[in-house]
Amino acid sequence: MFNVDKIRQDFPILQRQVNGKPLIYLDNAATSQTPQQVIDVIVDYYSHYNSNIHRGVHTLSQEATDKYEAARNTIQKHFNAKHAYEIILTAGTTHGINLIASGFSSLLKKDDEILVSALEHHSNIVPWQMLCEKTGATLKVIPMNMDGELVMSVYDKLLSKNTKLVFVNHISNALGTINPIEEIISKAHEVGAAVLVDGAQACPHLKPDMQALDVDFYVASAHKMCGPTGVGMLYGKEAWLKKLPPYQGGGEMIAEVSFEKTTYADLPHKFEAGTPNICGGIAFGAAVDYMNAIGFEAIAKYEHELLDYATAELLKIEGLKIFGTAKEKTSVISFNLEGIHPYDVGTLLDKMGIAVRTGHHCAQPIMNFFNIPGTVRASFAFYNTKAEVDTLVSGVKKAKMMLS
Ligand SMILES: *Cc1c(COP(=O)(O)O)cnc(C)c1O
Repeated sequence: MFNVDKIRQDFPILQRQVNGKPLIYLDNAATSQTPQQVIDVIVDYYSHYNSNIHRGVHTLSQEATDKYEAARNTIQKHFNAKHAYEIILTAGTTHGINLIASGFSSLLKKDDEILVSALEHHSNIVPWQMLCEKTGATLKVIPMNMDGELVMSVYDKLLSKNTKLVFVNHISNALGTINPIEEIISKAHEVGAAVLVDGAQACPHLKPDMQALDVDFYVASAHKMCGPTGVGMLYGKEAWLKKLPPYQGGGEMIAEVSFEKTTYADLPHKFEAGTPNICGGIAFGAAVDYMNAIGFEAIAKYEHELLDYATAELLKIEGLKIFGTAKEKTSVISFNLEGIHPYDVGTLLDKMGIAVRTGHHCAQPIMNFFNIPGTVRASFAFYNTKAEVDTLVSGVKKAKMMLS
């Protein structure tokens, strides 16, 4: 049974006060909070077996290596990858995307085309622009409609035999739209293009199945799903990971080194140069276990109730407009009050202990589309409550009164 009061006890930070008020944390799309179960794993690592992995014969190194590889297996099972070595542990989503972009720079040529969606995070736009500059390939954009949904009929027209790569996020961090990635992937495969899905925003809310999706690459960050910052995962199909050149040279990623020739290590180590975030990787595994113990179906159902409730209550406020009204969306609400700058609303809400994000959410093209400087974004996690939604709504009303 899903019991939010019990779940909240797992998160020590939810007990704190901000500006003399109980913290109401509604910035989960930027980073999620960390349960005691994951904090304990971090403390245990540094208290008992902190050491470098994969190279020592000593006990601590062996323990750290075993736990790190066990975390990789946990992540593999969670994402239903066929092999553990198809899971590359990265520094996060941005790192994973750059790794793929860099790998494709040796595979693309002039006249090749890359499609990205209009809903992308900056981390999913800039690396492709850099890649196009380097290779002479062309970047094309799948547009969106006023609800913040991708226009699939235009996607169909953009696809051609020149399309080599399609990059799309699973869920938009700015608007909460859930993109139809199954359809995007199968249509891309019909023309022989590979697909990379940015799952940073999806993984806190659902459990994507790599084999069922038949996706070529999928990236995520631990810190958006109850884990620590600076660690994430890149899933790649074995054939692709074998084809792509290594991203960085260094220790861990080699088989043999001489000045004449260096041969690379097998997967996944080929893409894991240097000492990784060992503690972070182990804690990422613990975060995945934590979320699975609650259950993604229960999480999705509860968050949807919060989303529907918050949407209905916020829309009762006169002059409040929500951006991102897709039929399929997660618990992200981007909104503005007529004639009031989002930054001012966010500042006043912080005075009341309510943490929301304001600004362009690393997605300036979306803001340009709606012709606004930014929005106030409240994003809900499974540990938020209806009572917190009520406080948010009365806070927004108060802010509106003070600012108009
Ligand atoms: C947060 C986020 C990113 C960037 O993740 P990092 O952990 O900062 O690398 C990329 N894409 C989306 C959709 C995100 O929400």
